[in-house]
Amino acid sequence: MPELPEVETTRRGIEPYINHQIISDVIIRQRALRWPVPKQLGQSVRNRAVVAVDRRGKYLLLRLDNGSIIIHLGMSGSLRICSDRAPFDKHDHVDIVFDNNHILRLRDPRKFGAVLWTGDAPENHPLLSALGPEPLQDEFNSRYFYERTRDRSASVKSVIMNSHIVVGVGNIYACESLYLAGINPKRKAGSLSLTRCERLVSTIKQVLNASISQGGTSLRDFVREDGMPGYYAQQLFVYGRAGEPCKQCGRPIKQIKQQQRSTFYCTQCQR
Ligand SMILES: [Zn+2]
Repeated sequence: MPELPEVETTRRGIEPYINHQIISDVIIRQRALRWPVPKQLGQSVRNRAVVAVDRRGKYLLLRLDNGSIIIHLGMSGSLRICSDRAPFDKHDHVDIVFDNNHILRLRDPRKFGAVLWTGDAPENHPLLSALGPEPLQDEFNSRYFYERTRDRSASVKSVIMNSHIVVGVGNIYACESLYLAGINPKRKAGSLSLTRCERLVSTIKQVLNASISQGGTSLRDFVREDGMPGYYAQQLFVYGRAGEPCKQCGRPIKQIKQQQRSTFYCTQCQR
């Protein structure tokens, strides 16, 4: 599933091709995505220029001068830039065609993605308005995290994956950050000291930044070729390593379920 680093990698990859370009058409081959692609999308965006390519959480925002296109990649979506002669595949559901002959193409085999339109500021859209701070921005800091978690008896892992607290920390990144911070994923969020909150906030930023820079290395291939950014390219310490030795202490990595998601951790190194 595309997580925040992959979405940010995508944003950086598509921006040079479509920013300040004029949309000449929208081709919708499949309207039935997670939410229906609006019938009026083409009419709303035709002959309009993209003024910024932004990201909020896992949503990509193509800001135009009269509103914004909101794109979510769902479970299996990817965006690519192709030329107007490129043949399409059965999973290529939406093309946004630019007058510089580039097409921004959404491929989404499982159809859990979304392409939406809002004439308002996208931050006010119901999908975005309740989101917590961006993990890589300064407003996500140890003081904020400490204060937001004082009354929380939920596990720290479920809290860092809660998009009302902070956006974009998916399962892999949650497991890896907790490992690097030495925090047991089952620990109650409200029981963490300010010092441990500081350590966790900093490892979350570090893990996400490392992943974005990995994605960045395959940017050109991603945009041009197979649509796969550097998913999981970074070295993983615990995720997917159940039973394998911990890279710090050698004990086998344990796998448990939390909120129906797999958690991987070291019982020795994470307290
Ligand atoms: Zn260990």
